[in-house]
Amino acid sequence: MEANRRKFLIGTSLVAASASMAGYKEMLGTAVTMGRKGRAAKDAIYADAQETEGVIATSFDKNSAFSLRNAVCNGCTSHCGMRVKIDNATGKVVKASGNPYNPLSTDPWLPYNTPLEESFVLLGKETGHTYRSTACARGNVVFDRHYDKGRVLTPLKRVGKRGENRWQSITPEQLLKEIVEGGDLFGEGTVKGLAAIRDLETPMDPNDPKCGPKANGLCVLGTGNEGRQAYMVNRFIGAFGTRNYMGHTAICGLSMRSGEAAYLGDFKGYPHLKPDFEHCEYLLTIGTAPAQAGNPFKRQAKLLAKARTFGKLKCVTVAPMLTNADALAAGDRSEWIPIQPGGDLAFVMGLLRVMIEEELYNASYLKLPSETAQKAFNDASWTNATHLVIQSGEKTGHILAQEEAPLVLEEETGVLKPASEVLQGRLFVDTQVEFQGETIGVKSAMSLLREAALAHTLEEYAQESGVSVERIVRTAREFASHGRKAAVDCHGGTMHTTGFYTTYAIMMLGAMVGNLNYQGGMSAGGGKYKDFNGAKYNLLGFPGKVASQGYRVDRARFAYEKTTEYAQKVARGENPYPAKDTWYPLTNALESEVIFNSAKGYPYKLDALISWNANFIYGQSGANALEELLKDPKKAVPLIIAIDPFINETSRFADYIVPDSVMYETWGVVSPWAGYQTKANSVRFPTIAAPQATFANGEPVSMDSFVIELGKALGLPGFGEGAIVGKEGEKYDFNRPSDFYLRAFENIAIDGSGVPECSDEEIELAGLEPYVKLLQNTCGQNWRKTAYVMARGGRFEEKEKGYVHGKLAHPYKKPIQIYNEPLGTARHALTGEPFSGVPTFMPARLARGEKLFALYPKEKFPLSAFSYKSNVLSQATASSQMIKEIRPTTYIDLNPQTAAQQDVSHGQKVRLVSPGGSVEGRVRLRHGVLPGAVAIEHGAGRDGEGALDVWIDGQKIEGCALRKSGANINKLGIMDSSRELATLSDFVIGSNARQALPVRIETI
Ligand code: SF4
Repeated sequence: MEANRRKFLIGTSLVAASASMAGYKEMLGTAVTMGRKGRAAKDAIYADAQETEGVIATSFDKNSAFSLRNAVCNGCTSHCGMRVKIDNATGKVVKASGNPYNPLSTDPWLPYNTPLEESFVLLGKETGHTYRSTACARGNVVFDRHYDKGRVLTPLKRVGKRGENRWQSITPEQLLKEIVEGGDLFGEGTVKGLAAIRDLETPMDPNDPKCGPKANGLCVLGTGNEGRQAYMVNRFIGAFGTRNYMGHTAICGLSMRSGEAAYLGDFKGYPHLKPDFEHCEYLLTIGTAPAQAGNPFKRQAKLLAKARTFGKLKCVTVAPMLTNADALAAGDRSEWIPIQPGGDLAFVMGLLRVMIEEELYNASYLKLPSETAQKAFNDASWTNATHLVIQSGEKTGHILAQEEAPLVLEEETGVLKPASEVLQGRLFVDTQVEFQGETIGVKSAMSLLREAALAHTLEEYAQESGVSVERIVRTAREFASHGRKAAVDCHGGTMHTTGFYTTYAIMMLGAMVGNLNYQGGMSAGGGKYKDFNGAKYNLLGFPGKVASQGYRVDRARFAYEKTTEYAQKVARGENPYPAKDTWYPLTNALESEVIFNSAKGYPYKLDALISWNANFIYGQSGANALEELLKDPKKAVPLIIAIDPFINETSRFADYIVPDSVMYETWGVVSPWAGYQTKANSVRFPTIAAPQATFANGEPVSMDSFVIELGKALGLPGFGEGAIVGKEGEKYDFNRPSDFYLRAFENIAIDGSGVPECSDEEIELAGLEPYVKLLQNTCGQNWRKTAYVMARGGRFEEKEKGYVHGKLAHPYKKPIQIYNEPLGTARHALTGEPFSGVPTFMPARLARGEKLFALYPKEKFPLSAFSYKSNVLSQATASSQMIKEIRPTTYIDLNPQTAAQQDVSHGQKVRLVSPGGSVEGRVRLRHGVLPGAVAIEHGAGRDGEGALDVWIDGQKIEGCALRKSGANINKLGIMDSSRELATLSDFVIGSNARQALPVRIETI
């Protein structure tokens, strides 16, 4: 039975039906006789199923009607490796399945040197179960974005007012001329062009040279890194010379990213941790749900299922909603801890309190004060738990150090010594030490953490989180009992006003058991082969690249105490606090502040914005106020250029739209964020032709080609003849995107011992014949190696290379920060309050400290709204027509108890009202939502991407009501009334607060 079923699955997915199918024929013949929309199907058994791409016998007999190319899916931020089936007659993608070489799509994955033909054959034998490589529901269908009627195919210029959605097509040449030269482009007065904006000499503000040059008047907003960010940031931003590039992390998962950066002691690189899903025994997943969403979505879902089935994993999900991460089928391997939205910080501080009070932590690990001690004890990481934090005087908050070498009290002797000379330091220290003739009060990092954890009782933590004391205690004990095989995970659930400390606290649980770099513990990922900067080329550098200067417009990565404003106030003898507005020295980028800051002119006003696939108007909580600013070119940004394959909620307000490529038409090199233990680079190249208008050289207009042509039109360094420089000084032209990306592929191919050469047979099987000439011209003698990488969709290290003797083969090398010194020595720019250098509990707040729920009390807003992601919708692809067939709309999800209290019923249309806005939707009753909470799935309720009517060249393209359908929680977003013109955000790091919003329900 099982064997027959397997053959059936193979038959419908990959190979032609076999004779063993006969037993099913009668049944299927009656069941499947209809095709789409009532038309009779082509075949009574297989309905309208596509022809298969080949037949597996002892070899793979490929169907010549199709090409099969390994590529990368952009259906969500996971960027899984895919195998794309292209109909040679139409040139269209007709199917996408997983690439079996790529760990993001299967586990185990094929050894890299597996011949391509065998990679097909293996999928059809018994090994098909082992190496089956899949696309998720979304990845299966979102290639329909290629063929969406809402795609922008030519450059567009607005006609009429911003946001009216009336456009005219223009040529690429007109586009370039107008945005470079500026002028009276819309009959509304003179608009400064990019040529005038790129002034590297004149200060932006003569009264404050720290604003940098006028070139900072251009800001580029991107989105997640889908493999082209390095290109934009280095080749364009680096050539233009502006300080202002921001990705979308501020409105996505910045609370998580920044809390992990604090824990890992790297606010520059913002590294990212994930559990070793495959080997951990106890996983505490807080405000995220592997098997439902998160990154890498497919991989972690698969590993979670396998670990619960074949391993020892128990997965505990802490969230206001029962998610797919919890599974009844997993029995006692699964637990759901319902929690108040935003209650996660209190819950985790409660866990830390129990672990510290009951001494459930790994003391001998935490006592390791240095790398020397780590090596002596053959451990996998170390922390600064024993390092001493100065408690008074000018150096308050700094770690006691001699010439930058931290000092600790030796465990045995109590003598103050350099950490590198001590094998075990004292863990709890609250004393005075004599150092360089001074008596200095110090506390160890661990003592500070204990103080913070014990600052509130378990009853208080229970009250704030909605989780009982008994359950907090039980969870802490169970977590600790698994030692180094206990792991944690979190993500978007932490996007609230205290989300940064929440993540820092969650990660700290891992430090208590010492799980970093252990098999079954936490991992920062397996790394990658050298790509953009590799053995043959540094594609990120070029002669004339500008070292940008000055404040960033988002006021990130800059301490208020270093500003001219601060210095002037101090010089005048004034209290320097509050600043005019917040500054964020520890934050990597804040898209959510850009438009507001430009409108306020603080630190300065922008002249132009390039919005590259960014969509903050949909994705930012409380973006309503932004729309008003964007509508009027005088208010925030005089010139907006969107690079976007669609007219989305944000590009709707642009002055010009530059088409971009989509999915399998694009170039890119991308590595997994985390959740993998071996080196991996996925490569993406245009597997099908892009339909956009072209530049004079025949290149379709896309971000990549636009940047080259714009760079040349502006006379920027790093474009055109000889602009790519090899490591030996040789020069290559940079006229097309392939000049850049193929060389990145080549770097990957020759890294280390390099990959084998691709044979003619594999070139044919991988559908690479059309690329051979280009490969030969670009990569010279390395062209077959580069083809080998393309044929496999990237380069992937073998699975068994992930671990060495129970530890990760690619460990994170910096120490864990029990106390984070840059954090503990920073101050809030408005209140002047010093930040706690260790995780600490505090209630939801505005920037200046007012308690959020005192301002918006339960009497007026009795419920708490939060957003969640499903396994189907992703913001970037939610408007896909085929996704809409799977998930037509979204709802306002309530527990039946809440509905009864509010006197609303299942299916009833209601209005959800917050202090910042309202949204309408239909009630759906779900027992799996915490009573008192309101859940809204993220991704629907669109005002762009085909949802609204659009006029191009006078022709109306009717909006699709289905795309508009559903609730967008961000319309409930709240402005921070303690600041001028700013949305509610985390008070330390500035991440946009979209969780735990106070709301009430009104009937319509
Ligand atoms: S998880 Fe995301 S990237 Fe992977 S197949 Fe699904 S949609 Fe594509």
